[in-house]
Amino acid sequence: MTANSDWPEVKAALLPGQHPTDRPDLVVRVFHAKLQSLIQDIRNDTLGAWAAHLYTIEFQKRGLPHVHIIIFLQPHSKLRTPEDVDSLMSSEFPDVNSDLFEHVKKFMVHRPCGAENPTSPCMVHGVCSKGFPKPFREETTVTEDSYARTRRCNTGQLHQVKIGAQEVTVNNQWVVCHSPYLLWKYRCHINVESIASVKAIKYIYKYVYKGHDRTTMAFGRCEDEIQQYLDAYYISSCEALWHVYLFQMQEQVPNVVHLQVHLKDQQGVVYNPEGDDSAQDVVNACRECLTTLTGWFAANALEPEGSEILDLLYQDYPSKMVWHNEANNARWTNRERGFAIGRMYYAHPTSGEHFYLHLLLTCVRGAKDWKDLYSFEGTEHPSFKEACIARGLLEDNQEWSLSRPTTVLW
Ligand SMILES: [Zn+2]
Repeated sequence: MTANSDWPEVKAALLPGQHPTDRPDLVVRVFHAKLQSLIQDIRNDTLGAWAAHLYTIEFQKRGLPHVHIIIFLQPHSKLRTPEDVDSLMSSEFPDVNSDLFEHVKKFMVHRPCGAENPTSPCMVHGVCSKGFPKPFREETTVTEDSYARTRRCNTGQLHQVKIGAQEVTVNNQWVVCHSPYLLWKYRCHINVESIASVKAIKYIYKYVYKGHDRTTMAFGRCEDEIQQYLDAYYISSCEALWHVYLFQMQEQVPNVVHLQVHLKDQQGVVYNPEGDDSAQDVVNACRECLTTLTGWFAANALEPEGSEILDLLYQDYPSKMVWHNEANNARWTNRERGFAIGRMYYAHPTSGEHFYLHLLLTCVRGAKDWKDLYSFEGTEHPSFKEACIARGLLEDNQEWSLSRPTTVLW
């Protein structure tokens, strides 16, 4: 979703003679309010039963804020058939609703590029990086490996659209995929796409978290024989105000809790090199501190026999427990509301005991001490590797074959 500086809420608050570009404060506050409303709509199942979402905020070079949102739907709401996709989104000019038709014309037409406008920002190596004009398509198709391709019928109809000062003639090939309901409600550019496969999700994550645009500027008057270049980050007035108002740059719901995986007494330690503490003081201070892993042992040790908490794997702990990362009192406590996902830090198969510990943590429930990880059926083994072998986790290289496709994928 990209902000629309002509939103009535912005225009109504302008003082006489002012233009929206004079009031970036208004634009970002209205955008923020609309974003909150959009997220609420999504959580209220406007696009299907909501399971999770995340977003990041970005600012275009000349300023307007926009947001990239990824929405995960519950299994029964996933868009599996062309009919499912068509019920939510469209890449065509509507032929009945004249209000909506005007909004599509105003917000959802890709600005002319190609031979007509070779300097358009979407042009990379002489072609439109977004693939416009898109080919006509009689029916929506859903493929495993990419975005759903929405229907674009060749109706023969042409429409005059004003983009900036330019008047252009377009047809369904130039319409950006959108949700008619969201467009009608929010009246700004909202591109909606449906993705079916985990491979496409990998790409979309990279895209959403790619970070701000960077630019390399050459100083024209520089007389040095080696030109000076500056790796610069341009902050627009909207972006500056977004930070002034302390609005979030990203959000993910539900929360993901990172779980440490470390060998005994080998956890990471944070200290201030300019502080007065000696290395020994730092070590002594950390000896008593719990990490998410040693805290898991400690919390399990406090649970009564038969408690459902003892049935949880380490990685599932955040679903029922909350981690308090306080300096001298880090601990897990019972979760009273909400839900979080636990993710262990990755251990590479060549990292030896570290990897075997990771493996054990995926199957040992309710461990109260390191020795519970070493033990199986009453026998304490000398290493995590041997404990894995005793549990049959390494019997036939099964774990290697299981870990490989994941490694390749991620
Ligand atoms: Zn283009």
